[in-house]
Amino acid sequence: MKTWRNWLGNVTASPHDLVTPASTSEVVDCVERASRRGERVRVVGAGYAWSPLVPVEGTLLSTARLRAVRRVDVERQQVTIEAGATVRELVDFVTAHGMSVRSPSMFMGLSVGGLLATGSHGTGLDAATFGDAVTSFELVTPDGSVRTVTDVDSPLARALLCNLGALGVVTAVTLQCRPAFNVQEVHAPADIDDVAALIPSMLAENDFVELFWMPPSRRAKFKLGNRTSRPATPVTGRRHPSAGDHFIAGLSPLFPYLAHLRPILDPLAQTVYDRIGTGVRVVSAPDFAHYNQAYPRCISSEFGIPIERAPEAWRWIHGRLRRYGDAGARPVSLIVHARFCGPSRALIAPSAGRATCHLEVLSFHGNEHRHLFGEDFDLVMRSRFDGRPHWGKEIFNPAEAASGYGDNLGVFLDLRRELDPRQRFLNPFLRDQVFGLGRRLRAAPHDRRDAQRTD
Ligand SMILES: Cc1cc2nc3c(=O)[nH]c(=O)nc-3n(C[C@H](O)[C@H](O)[C@H](O)COP(=O)(O)OP(=O)(O)OC[C@H]3O[C@@H](n4cnc5c(N)ncnc54)[C@H](O)[C@@H]3O)c2cc1C
Repeated sequence: MKTWRNWLGNVTASPHDLVTPASTSEVVDCVERASRRGERVRVVGAGYAWSPLVPVEGTLLSTARLRAVRRVDVERQQVTIEAGATVRELVDFVTAHGMSVRSPSMFMGLSVGGLLATGSHGTGLDAATFGDAVTSFELVTPDGSVRTVTDVDSPLARALLCNLGALGVVTAVTLQCRPAFNVQEVHAPADIDDVAALIPSMLAENDFVELFWMPPSRRAKFKLGNRTSRPATPVTGRRHPSAGDHFIAGLSPLFPYLAHLRPILDPLAQTVYDRIGTGVRVVSAPDFAHYNQAYPRCISSEFGIPIERAPEAWRWIHGRLRRYGDAGARPVSLIVHARFCGPSRALIAPSAGRATCHLEVLSFHGNEHRHLFGEDFDLVMRSRFDGRPHWGKEIFNPAEAASGYGDNLGVFLDLRRELDPRQRFLNPFLRDQVFGLGRRLRAAPHDRRDAQRTD
């Protein structure tokens, strides 16, 4: 029995076996061995997901040794990379070859396979999920065969674009990149009461838009980016963690215990935050990224809502958090964050089929008020704003998480069943809570032995 924990330590598992294959054929061996033992398999990339997608009692297959670049074609602006590589490794490689990934502004510690599995995204209306730039997938299916999927509009490719690790192991992908470009970055402060009204014009006038608000401040900040041919100035800490990132991450376990110091700490934090990235500067596209690359101990919940509902949803969040604040509660102790993306081809990514505002609330882990607002946020985003939760972030109501996908969900589940009739690549979170398949599984005679397992 091995032990595994995710980055934050809020999700743990005790798999029977933890394997780290270094090639596609070794992945096939691992999948076949698990199948002979009658064990379930789950895949883990960088282990950052906050939701319990990874835990399994059987075989946990890590992609940590699958990180090679297999092929680069500068003329066609394509790179074939193994799924365990991190965004940082990918970005450093394509930058060195004069290219840029299509979806900037993602945290660089995540793995290519993990991003793909959860429909993860950066910001920018001409990019949807990270995976929408994939032109070819290499997949080891649950029966141990290797498939190459190149028809990107096929149902299987669309399912792989947000696969939840439930269709097998993605071992490598070919990504369509674009020529390297620079971005003029501007941080525009806005009074919190004006933010909602400003969102449409910010989206109309800029290539990349992000929005940050640190409650209970009266100020929010737009981070705006526009492509430019002007030369870039290097920025530290956007691709690789800075000393400051490590310092704050190291101190962060103390933050929940410092709540009584809020009257002093809030203005201090706001002053530091106001100074981040002020002014206008030109950065290379990969440097138009997250402010920190070593995270404090925090936890996030996020919904993708139709982009045109963003102003209304922002007003709701602001009003609700202000009411909590008036009552002395601080359920979002870090930041409210919005990013905006185009429609995804994925079957079940939050941005499937529609331009999306990704609205995220981030709190320090250990915040005792977090659940109060989290449950409100979940209910209101789903019921009032047609929201779909980010699969890799905290999911307050798993039974409703897949409910916003209409017929796409049926297509996904049919494909999944075809590839994995014995449900080897599901764990109880997905099988029972998200997809509600538990009862059917127990009724199937060939799966009785599995049904007794508790993983
Ligand atoms: C600090 C932090 C920053 C984040 N920033 C962003 C962001 O900028 N944008 C965003 O959209 N999300 C973001 N997220 C959420 C994150 O993108 C997802 O949780 C993502 O899945 C994490 O990637 P990972 O490699 O850590 O995946 P893991 O946590 O290792 O796995 C997540 C899922 O992917 C599956 N999986 C992993 N590799 C494979 C593979 N090769 N084949 C099949 N399935 C696989 C696993 O089975 C599991 O279901 C962030 C999360 C954290 C903690």
